Amino acid sequence: MSDFEYDLFVIGAGSGGVRAARIASSHGARVAIAEEFRIGGTCVIRGCVPKKLLVYASRFSDEFKDAGGFGWTLPERTFDWPSLIAAKDKEISRLEAAYRTTLDKYKVEVFPERAMCLSPNEVRLSASGRTITAKTILIATGGHPNVDRKLPGIEHVITSNEVFNLKKFPRRIVIAGGGYIATEFASIFHGLGSDVTLIYRGEKILRGFDDDLRDGLVETMKARGIRIINEKVFTKIEKTASGLVGTITGGETLEADQILFAIGRSPNARGLGLEAIGVQMDPENAIVVDNHSQTTVPSIYAVGDVTNRVNLTPVAIREGQAFADSVFGNKPTLVDYTTIPTAVFTTPEIGTVGFTEQEAKNQYGDVHVYKGSFRTMKAILGGRDERTLMKLVVQSETDRVVGVHILGPDAAEIVQTAAIAVRLGAKKSDFDQTMALHPSAAEELVTLREKWMAPGEAAA
Ligand code: FAD
Ligand code: NDP
Repeated sequence: MSDFEYDLFVIGAGSGGVRAARIASSHGARVAIAEEFRIGGTCVIRGCVPKKLLVYASRFSDEFKDAGGFGWTLPERTFDWPSLIAAKDKEISRLEAAYRTTLDKYKVEVFPERAMCLSPNEVRLSASGRTITAKTILIATGGHPNVDRKLPGIEHVITSNEVFNLKKFPRRIVIAGGGYIATEFASIFHGLGSDVTLIYRGEKILRGFDDDLRDGLVETMKARGIRIINEKVFTKIEKTASGLVGTITGGETLEADQILFAIGRSPNARGLGLEAIGVQMDPENAIVVDNHSQTTVPSIYAVGDVTNRVNLTPVAIREGQAFADSVFGNKPTLVDYTTIPTAVFTTPEIGTVGFTEQEAKNQYGDVHVYKGSFRTMKAILGGRDERTLMKLVVQSETDRVVGVHILGPDAAEIVQTAAIAVRLGAKKSDFDQTMALHPSAAEELVTLREKWMAPGEAAA
């Protein structure tokens, strides 16, 4: 009989924590989990899932607009934000309950309260004051949205934590940031009918994504009516009788019903008692782990956003699974971070896997680029003057496709499948030999024949 009450105590019932708890239990471990908010974590409660539901809602406006080109006449449309939020809440509660059922099924004991570490094998529950012993502790506490705390009037802004539960629809919204959340919510609110301004500190939004996608998205967002202000930040925010007024560098003022800050997230690693027991943190407050997710204290592991490796749900889940299989399943497993597909659910959306053109050039020197830009069949009849972009980045020496980048409808769905080919090391000739599926937009990926030449390169 073990000296500990549990074999594993997990702090945080989000994507990584729930997966680790369930799998460890299936390997025979006695497992408990603490959650201070709601089971399911960021992704289910106030991240990926509710976000995607809002994305769907926002895209009906395009469908309504384009339907005329296909012979439909629609009555006047109205949109009711409280109805959308109520429907979203119902679905989120259903999913939360499903997560709870899974934990119960796997006999994982759930403590609905905040937890912290007292020692390498002891956890303290804040509300009940109970101390629990465990052979292994897993920190899966995720992250939280950043705000600029020194900004005058910062108390008036919202973050992604609040945006999903606004009582009133914001007719005018200003969004600070140029990453995933800022761009996704710019498209969401624009699609739902808000007047949207995006204010980004740099030259071009979505740093780190392929430049062609960034340029194409900026062009489309602007053409749709989203105002993008570059190289500016807020200097002050004030509340007025009619809403909020934000002043930005240079002195311009922006009026809004809501100001959303989406300027990155930080790990929830402080205040868990970890420093006192020797768990190392990096300068960004992420828990330092090795490639088995083990911290500098051998009985303590960490997975997901709290380690700030790749902050995406499927990655947190894989890390949780690998941890549980390695530590409790006698099956040492490493997570492969090499070909992680990702999407930005703007409208149009971005789907991408592998190296950007620039990264591939830095990595391999010589690369071939194939790209196509076209209006989809649906866009043509719908009267929508937006182009879909598909791009393949190929390592010249080996003919391997090392990057697939798409901007357009269903980009996420297409790239998920293309990621398998990239991971398997498919060559451009494999893409070429793959029969097209017609009529589809994705067939462009297997029919791109002409190497793209930079202006001036063709003549050389
Ligand atoms: P989380 O899911 O954040 O879970 C951590 C849990 O720990 C939380 O429930 C928290 O309440 C709990 N907790 C924290 N401290 C304690 C404590 N001391 N005691 C008890 N409980 C505690 N990723 C994608 O892949 N695709 C997307 O489309 C996507 N969209 C997103 C949209 C938004 C708006 C946001 C904010 C994120 C999005 N993400 C998306 C990222 C994704 O949500 C995270 O990468 C993922 O949830 C990380 O999982 P995790 O297990 O590390 O942490
Ligand atoms: P991101 O890291 O994607 O973007 C942060 C943005 O804020 C960047 O444009 C950054 O600019 C800017 N920024 C950073 N600090 C400041 C500052 N002090 N003042 C002004 N601007 C600033 O973070 P998000 O908050 O959008 O999302 C957090 C993470 O959640 C993502 O990185 C991703 O891992 C995950 N996520 C995934 C989604 C998906 O898979 N579809 C959707 C939503 C979130 P700069 O580029 O110049 O640094």
